[in-house]
Amino acid sequence: MDRIYLDYAATSPVLPEVLDAMLPFFMSCFGNPSGIHENGRETRKAVEQARREVAETLGAESREIVFTSGGSESDNLAIEGTAFALRQKGNHIITSQIEHHAVLNTCRWLEKQGFRVTYLPVDASGLVEPDSVRDAIGNDTVLVSIMTANNEIGTVEPVSEIGEICREKGVLFHTDAVQAIGMMNIHAAEINADLISLSAHKFHGPKGTGALYIRKGTKLESLIHGGAQERGLRAGTENVPGIVGMGKAITIAAKEREENQQRIRELRDQMIRIVLERIPGSQLNGHPEKRLANNCHFSFAGIESEALLLRLDLAGISVSGGSACTSGSMEPSHVLQAIGLKNEMLKSGIRMTMGRETTREEIEKTAEKMSEIIADLRQMSHSSIKHLRG
Ligand SMILES: *Cc1c(COP(=O)(O)O)cnc(C)c1O
Repeated sequence: MDRIYLDYAATSPVLPEVLDAMLPFFMSCFGNPSGIHENGRETRKAVEQARREVAETLGAESREIVFTSGGSESDNLAIEGTAFALRQKGNHIITSQIEHHAVLNTCRWLEKQGFRVTYLPVDASGLVEPDSVRDAIGNDTVLVSIMTANNEIGTVEPVSEIGEICREKGVLFHTDAVQAIGMMNIHAAEINADLISLSAHKFHGPKGTGALYIRKGTKLESLIHGGAQERGLRAGTENVPGIVGMGKAITIAAKEREENQQRIRELRDQMIRIVLERIPGSQLNGHPEKRLANNCHFSFAGIESEALLLRLDLAGISVSGGSACTSGSMEPSHVLQAIGLKNEMLKSGIRMTMGRETTREEIEKTAEKMSEIIADLRQMSHSSIKHLRG
C-alpha cells in the first residue's frame, strides 16, 4: 500500500529534473570550483549559474547570495554574523517567541556571549504586531529577526511592515523564509530585508544545501574560517551538486508556484472543512487566512498528539506533531505555548502539510482515518476513566 505523505514542511522529495541536473556533478564534472583549469572552470560556471537562479527568484543580485549547508546554517550566519560584526554599535537583538530553533537557540547562545535578546510575544493566531517591534527597538538594537512564515502553524508574518520599521530605524532585518519560499513570492527589496534564509530541501531540492541573501553593503563575520570561498563568508569547497540542485529547484518552484499554490490551497481547505465538520472538539490553529497555502494545524480536545500520530503512522499516513525537530521529546511546542493554547489543546497539536504529489483522495482518506482514530482514542480514555473510577 502506498503511504500518504502529509509532512512537506519537514522535507520534500528531490524532483527528477533536479536530480538530473545534479548527477553530472558527482562524477564527470567533479572539479574544484576554485581550480583555474578547465575542470574547475566548468564547476565554477555551474555554481555561478545556480547563484543567479537563487538571486533572480528573490529579485536580488548574484553577489548578494551565499551558499550554506541549509536553513540552520543560514540562520546562524545571519544572526551570529551580524551580531559580532556590529558589536561596537550595540548588543541588542529582537526576535519572536515562535521562531524556528535555528533562530531561537542561536539567540540563546548569543545571550551567553553577552548579547541581550528580546523575544516578542505573538497574538492568538501567531502574528507578531509590527508596533511591538517598533517599541522594542532601542539605541543598542542591531538586528531584528522575524520569520516570513511559521513552520508549525503556517502563520504568515507582516514582514514588509516589520522590514520597513527596521529600515526607518537603521536596524538590520533578517527573515527566515525557509517555509515561505516554496509557497510565496518573496522579493528581497519589497520586504525590506537585509538577510533572508533559504533551504533547498523544503522546495524539492537536496538536503544539506541552503542559501543566505545578504543585501549588498551588509557587514558580517563568518562562522566557518578557512579558504576564501563565498566571498570569504563561508570557507570550504562548495557542495557543487547540492548548489546546482538548489538552483534548479528554486527555478522550478518559482515558475510553478502560482499553479501549485492554488491547487494545494484547495486541498488544504478541503482538509480544514472536513476535519472541522466531522471531528467534534477540533480546532484550527494559526491564522484563518494569513497562512501558508500548504499548511493546516489542528488540536483535538482530549487527544494526545503522539497517540494520534502513531496510529496514523500505522495506517500508512505521515503527519507531524508540531515540528519535526521537537517530536520525540514530550515538551509541548513553544509555538503552541506562545499562541496561548492550554492543557489538552496544547498537547494535541497535529500539523498536516500538503505538496505537489498530494491528491484529493489522500485528503479524504486521511480525514476519514483521523476521525475514526480520534473517536477510538476518546472511547478508550473514556472507558479507562470509568474503569479507574470503578
Ligand atoms: C526546516 C527549517 C529550518 C532548518 O533548515 P535545515 O535546512 O533543515 O537546516 C529553519 N527554519 C525553518 C522555518 C524551517 O522550516
